[in-house]
Amino acid sequence: MATRRTAVAIVGAGPTGLTAAARLAALGVDHVVLDARAEPTATSNAALVHASALELLAELAAADELVAAGNVVRRIVLADDRGPFARIGLTDVDSTYPFALGVPQSTTERILLARLGELGGAVRRSHRVETLRPAPGGHLIEGTADGGPFTVHARYVIGADGAHSAIRAAAGLTFPGEQYPDQFVLADVALTAPPAADDEAAVTMSPDGVTVVGRLPGGTHRIIATVAGNVPPAPDRSFVDNLLERRGLAARTAADPLWSSRFRVQHRVADRFRAGDVFLAGDAAHVHSPAAGQGMNTGIADGFDLATRLAAVVGGADPALLDGYETDRRAAAAEVLRFTDRMTRAALLRNPVARRVRRVMAGTLTRVPPVRDTITMWVTGLRRSPLHQA
Ligand SMILES: Cc1cc2nc3c(=O)[nH]c(=O)nc-3n(C[C@H](O)[C@H](O)[C@H](O)COP(=O)(O)OP(=O)(O)OC[C@H]3O[C@@H](n4cnc5c(N)ncnc54)[C@H](O)[C@@H]3O)c2cc1C
Repeated sequence: MATRRTAVAIVGAGPTGLTAAARLAALGVDHVVLDARAEPTATSNAALVHASALELLAELAAADELVAAGNVVRRIVLADDRGPFARIGLTDVDSTYPFALGVPQSTTERILLARLGELGGAVRRSHRVETLRPAPGGHLIEGTADGGPFTVHARYVIGADGAHSAIRAAAGLTFPGEQYPDQFVLADVALTAPPAADDEAAVTMSPDGVTVVGRLPGGTHRIIATVAGNVPPAPDRSFVDNLLERRGLAARTAADPLWSSRFRVQHRVADRFRAGDVFLAGDAAHVHSPAAGQGMNTGIADGFDLATRLAAVVGGADPALLDGYETDRRAAAAEVLRFTDRMTRAALLRNPVARRVRRVMAGTLTRVPPVRDTITMWVTGLRRSPLHQA
């Protein structure tokens, strides 16, 4: 069995790994991408792409096609059982993309993969990484592909292998945090009487739980909702209609969901994003609540930042440049974790007095320009972007 030698091995071809690979390919760095799955993601999972990620995808010449395939979202409307009480605008930002995009994760990955192909790169599918160990001049990665073993020797390793990262475990890095008590329901479904305009995402906070509704391309809506009780593995039309009714929403399903699922959410950040020349990025390094759709966007920024630094160092720059990855991206992940946690806990309030205070506070604060601008910069990710840091 021949060992493939490369400058950078990327383990995981989700949005994070594909961004890193496309960036390395664009900068002419030899790399290998390994993914355990036979096929890319086929479902809509992370369906909101923010301005900061669009700017990074533009650097990879992948943004225009994505924008053409998505639905523009200009504001997030916060409501409770008494109606809307605050609006978070996404348009008043200094960006080529003054909006967010509702687009299935499968589309984002397809466009990134095509771009990687145009740049001469590819993903080695059905390659499951099992072990990682130091070897002279780098690391040895071993695993199984289509029943047979494979070996890759890499100077640098990127663990972009998701929340259950084998690379994180092999590098001895821990992933402290906890799980939210509520389950999350997810459904892509055509709706009658949706709670917001086509260019808005509606967040409705009822005592029964939080319901987020936003439009996807092709006329369907994405619903994400917290549920305190049991949720079936693939919630059907009547489950979704009951949920909408209990939360005081007029919307009802117009057809069976195209896709539905349930998931539990954790909030965790790896203690380190780096062990020597092994790096963590994306969900392997941080997971958080889906509030304001930050997961995939943060991973895209990690992948872009790390690949840019690795390309420079492989090209002869001072390896100290790599130190900034952990400093910048761990701080970005911590900020995302903090504000998504605050938003999630505020949205889940059940005490009537606390809910009234939330309504007044959020309604007032989101109209104060400096506060409003700070919230917009948090949500769009622009201040945390590698493109906006000195
Ligand atoms: C049902 C669902 C709904 C979601 N909804 C939202 C949302 O609304 N908003 C949001 O922001 N985020 C959402 N997320 C999270 C979002 O999908 C992730 O944040 C995003 O996919 C992270 O990208 P990633 O590339 O870091 O990791 P992943 O997308 O998890 O990719 C990791 C890749 O690594 C591969 N891999 C794993 N182990 C190995 C191994 N040992 N060897 C080789 N390859 C390996 C996997 O096959 C996979 O392709 C959702 C996720 C799910 C599952």
